[in-house]
Amino acid sequence: MEKDCIFCNIVAGKTETEFLYQDDMLVVFRDINPHAPVHLLIVPKKHIRSINDLTEADQPILSEMLMVAKDMAAEHGIAQSGYRLFINVERGGGQVIFHLHLHLIGGFR
Ligand SMILES: [Zn+2]
Repeated sequence: MEKDCIFCNIVAGKTETEFLYQDDMLVVFRDINPHAPVHLLIVPKKHIRSINDLTEADQPILSEMLMVAKDMAAEHGIAQSGYRLFINVERGGGQVIFHLHLHLIGGFR
């Protein structure tokens, strides 16, 4: 855990953030600045700065992120209407919080 990382603090339960899901590898919560009717963040508990910092050992985390994204889409009723999954990498890719996270957005009409 990185002391000054907001997502590490959220993962550690040090904020009021409501978890929509959590398991031993990751947590899911709502983006505080939503860009869509459904905008969730799927966040590994382990502090990984960005996709650039992944190692072979992180493969189970990545796979879990996608599986949970699929389940969250179904749970929020957007599996059939469709959704988008994306990961921003570093500043040039639009990353704002430097703790790896997967965006799940959908619910547009
Ligand atoms: Zn972190």
